[in-house]
Amino acid sequence: MSDLRDLYQDVILEHCKAPRNYREIPAADHKAEGFNPLCGDRFTVYLALDGDVIRDISFQGTGCAISKASASMMTQMLKGKTREEAEKLFGRFHDLVTGHAPASEEVELGKLAVFSGVSEFPVRVKCATLAWHTLQAALEGKQEAISTE
Ligand code: ZN
Repeated sequence: MSDLRDLYQDVILEHCKAPRNYREIPAADHKAEGFNPLCGDRFTVYLALDGDVIRDISFQGTGCAISKASASMMTQMLKGKTREEAEKLFGRFHDLVTGHAPASEEVELGKLAVFSGVSEFPVRVKCATLAWHTLQAALEGKQEAISTE
């Protein structure tokens, strides 16, 4: 189990050092800002939709390794997905980091399964889900910054 944990840590650190889709989308048709005051994580998520499909997704901001890696992997997983698929995946991811996911869901979550260890640290759940909450706000067209508190 400890080997697996090391591997998970490596994946998170790697995404933290070289976050994917870390840029602004100048022509974004949706964007939102999210803030986690408990940890100081703050991200903006940008979206370009094509009908219901996420044609492009990116993020910028600062935060701890978990929040940054989660945002990075989220953008990787969601490009080309529909709104509905994105919300479903968020539901599964939320179950995972709060320790409610059946093992079968971990498989479906693919790379996001590296965050399963977060369920042991309730304070970190907000770090791991910040980008996803921000994404949801962007999809809903919210103008004000959202906060996890
Ligand atoms: Zn954090």
